[in-house]
Amino acid sequence: MRVHHLNCISTCPLGGKLMDGRTESIIRRGHLACHCLLVEGNSSLILVDTGLGRRDVSDPESRLSWFFLSLVSPDFREEMTAFRQVRRLGYDPRDVRHIVLTHLDFDHAGGLDDFPHATVHMLASERDAAVAQKTWLDRQRFRPQQWSSRDRWRVYQAGEGERWFGFDRVRALEGLPPEIVLVPLIGHTFGHAGVAVQRGDKWLLQAGDAYFFHAEMDPEHPRCTPGLRFYQWMMEKDRRARLWNQRRLRELRRTHASEVELFCSHDLLELERLSGRSAEVPARMIVRPVAAHGPETTKSDVSAR
Ligand SMILES: [Zn+2]
Repeated sequence: MRVHHLNCISTCPLGGKLMDGRTESIIRRGHLACHCLLVEGNSSLILVDTGLGRRDVSDPESRLSWFFLSLVSPDFREEMTAFRQVRRLGYDPRDVRHIVLTHLDFDHAGGLDDFPHATVHMLASERDAAVAQKTWLDRQRFRPQQWSSRDRWRVYQAGEGERWFGFDRVRALEGLPPEIVLVPLIGHTFGHAGVAVQRGDKWLLQAGDAYFFHAEMDPEHPRCTPGLRFYQWMMEKDRRARLWNQRRLRELRRTHASEVELFCSHDLLELERLSGRSAEVPARMIVRPVAAHGPETTKSDVSAR
């Protein structure tokens, strides 16, 4: 399986260095990624998370809450949407037939509307809690305005399938190959999950918002910036489960680093390492020299790692 790492619209949170650990000051806004995957399956394209989408870019106020717009001020550039990057890579967005979601927060689900031919897979508990809109914060983070895909949602119970490196996994995802696995990692939300993708003898694990900062997964000295520690506390739905899952992910990294490449949604360093390019630029297609019969293009190698 060929996999492309995409940053589908950065966010620029208040707190600068306190959040990302690398902006020069705490007065300037920080920079977080929105790490999505585009997977080339045998017969279709599969997205893991969608980031923010074209409708969010064109009309943010009607789609997102003022609370998060002011707090994280997304860098709304249409060229960074999954839709546009799928095209830049030389694919047809209509061939995106499946989207696997880590969770339904606005910055992961905003691009759903751009792929009307896709079945959307997630945990049942994620759908139920997001739809229920029980708290004020739920209504800011889960945005029904982004859910035109609702009749194409397929939901799964956690822990119906076999184990995956000691973690629960859901049973096979409808229409998807066994190389794509949904791994419940409850805590950030009630139905939060990681998505594992097998390539050869190695797995990628997109751990979503199970953690936010690369050093949180340091097996010896886990640490997090104060701003992201606060943000995770503010957003968490089940603290015990979240911290327990972080411990298990650290243990996975310690014991299986050669078999599992672990990364999260919002860490810039991880995104830039895995994509091989700056988080500021979209994925692109490599264009080969012009052939005798006209321009020939080929799909990107740069971001396929
Ligand atoms: Zn997030």
